[in-house]
Amino acid sequence: MIKASLITPFQTPYNAAPFLAIENDDYLPTFKEAIKQAKAEIDAIVNNTEAPSFENTIVALDFSGEQLDRISSIFFNLNSAETNETIQKIAQEVSPLLSEFGNDITLNEDLFKRVKAVYDNKNELNLTTEEQTLLDKRYKGFSRNGANLPEDKKEKLREIDKKLSQLSLKFGENVLAETNKFEMLIVDEKDLAGLPEGTIEAAKQLAESKEKEGWLFTLDYPSYIPFVTYADNRELRKKLTLAAGSKAFKGDDLDNQGIVLQIVNLRHQRANLLGYKTHAHFVLEERMAQTPEKVLDFSNELLEKAKPAAKKEFENLEKFAKELDNIDQLEKWDGSYYSEKLKQKLFSLDDEQLKPYFKLENVIDGAFTVANKLFDLSFEEIDTIDKYHEDVLTYKVTDKNGDLVSIFYADFFPRSGKRNGAWMTSYKPQYVIDGENSRPHISIVCNFTKPTKSKPSLLTFNEVTTLFHEFGHALHGMLASTTYPSLSGTSVFWDFVELPSQVMENWCYEKEALELFAKHYETGEVIPMDLVEKIKDSASFHQGMQTLRQLSFGLLDMKWHGQDPSNISNVKDFETEAFKDTNLYPKTEETCMSTAFSHIFQGGYSSGYYSYKWAEVLDADAFEYFQEAGIFNKEVATKFKDNVLSQGGTENPMVLYKRFRGQEPKPEALLKRAGLIK
Ligand SMILES: [Zn+2]
Repeated sequence: MIKASLITPFQTPYNAAPFLAIENDDYLPTFKEAIKQAKAEIDAIVNNTEAPSFENTIVALDFSGEQLDRISSIFFNLNSAETNETIQKIAQEVSPLLSEFGNDITLNEDLFKRVKAVYDNKNELNLTTEEQTLLDKRYKGFSRNGANLPEDKKEKLREIDKKLSQLSLKFGENVLAETNKFEMLIVDEKDLAGLPEGTIEAAKQLAESKEKEGWLFTLDYPSYIPFVTYADNRELRKKLTLAAGSKAFKGDDLDNQGIVLQIVNLRHQRANLLGYKTHAHFVLEERMAQTPEKVLDFSNELLEKAKPAAKKEFENLEKFAKELDNIDQLEKWDGSYYSEKLKQKLFSLDDEQLKPYFKLENVIDGAFTVANKLFDLSFEEIDTIDKYHEDVLTYKVTDKNGDLVSIFYADFFPRSGKRNGAWMTSYKPQYVIDGENSRPHISIVCNFTKPTKSKPSLLTFNEVTTLFHEFGHALHGMLASTTYPSLSGTSVFWDFVELPSQVMENWCYEKEALELFAKHYETGEVIPMDLVEKIKDSASFHQGMQTLRQLSFGLLDMKWHGQDPSNISNVKDFETEAFKDTNLYPKTEETCMSTAFSHIFQGGYSSGYYSYKWAEVLDADAFEYFQEAGIFNKEVATKFKDNVLSQGGTENPMVLYKRFRGQEPKPEALLKRAGLIK
């Protein structure tokens, strides 16, 4: 049974999550009971004797399982931010129960019949735009998983899905095995020349942990990246680069070439079965970009603008390497090394110079002040609700009338039990029920520099932009104002979700914003503008080559998934052809990107790699609008709030964006910001 205190709405101030009342032993029974309740709610929808209607089917479905959602949010958020072995064990027990429950819904034919009945009648229903979007989303949730197919094709689809999940698992296992297999032991101290102290120390410790003499380097990023960036020994950089680039491409039992071909062919067959031309068409139907043609146009337009700059940067880098070390041909294993050297020469920008201006408390205040100037939000720290750890800060967020907008949790410091990185999440979504707008509970979690006995928490500039980034996601959640929980806040298409977060980062580079909070923690002096200029300049260093690199990955992804792959027989040849417009370095026979391209063959980024650049185009274009009117212009901010931040996924994002901006996003602002055009 669920403990009385864990039944929603919680009997706590603001109905906030009752962290202190929950014990680990409560989770499993609470999950089981909540799943039972959610199932009963679904059964009630299916068994309703009234004819299917938007209200009794689609709306009822969207508001079902609230109990389960609340306990899932609490449990999985804590499993990321404050976990331990017990919680991890419970997660392993709970996950199959949840996926079984998920299947019970998507494979429920009687439920689909009711949804379809409403969908087929949608033109007669006089639905609002938000209602239409919800209906569409629900219907597609079934149809895109084969609910409309005859039994034999359903069977075929299930077969394909089963094979695909086995193949991507195997793909990932091979990449991991290849990564773990490689070791480079250095015994001669001379070979460490150029490397930072910390990297050398870590390599020494790694060697010791494996009872070896010397310094051990691997293909794990914290070992590999500093080595190819700083090590003076060119032969060893080459060795490591080729090892990293030839993962799962050696023709042995860990080779992924066959798996890549099987995956793209099965994805294509699956898309065809569901009535789509290619896998990319299938994926992009639920993206802002909509079609592969749009993605290709967008990529090629950027490519055309970035390529001359990239070529020029490459020539300069070649010249620099020639002058410095008499390098005749710049190779892949030289790129990061000479880029870093050149960057140091040009900017000599050091984190230690900047950190005194970014005391954590000041940066938080800065983010709050920016939100106040733009959106009239006020943040008041409160101590009346439970915290899951003493480091967590809790706030009540109100609008200019003093009405509650959101509860906000912020959790900044690393500790064991918290995973790496930074993210935004929620404990309760926003929605409207019985005419009442029920406000959300939003959280951000980071791993920032901790205070010491003598110094407060002083952030690196990268941490400052990270805080603004996650705070941007948080604003998207906090300002949500939609009717249905599944369309609220950050529940938007994938290639749109990074707009609110990335756009906020822009304020970190603006004098007018920095003056508000970037003050020396001892003297109170505002950050000198020449430092800010240096930050900006170094941010656009080698942007041509970076852009080309990102575009090349997106184009490779689109080539694999945007056409019929049945005639492709050679992975390396196909890839070489796909890279021909974006490659600057001489070809290396030993390496292949696709066989270790986990984003698209193991994770969920297939036909979606373009999203990184797409989101940058959006944020630069949106911020340009602010710059034109003044970065704290109320009118533009209100348009952004009313048409983007509050709207969640209630309409196609392109429509929302155009309503805010007055036109479709253009790449010029990004190209200007990156210094690629004047
Ligand atoms: Zn983000």
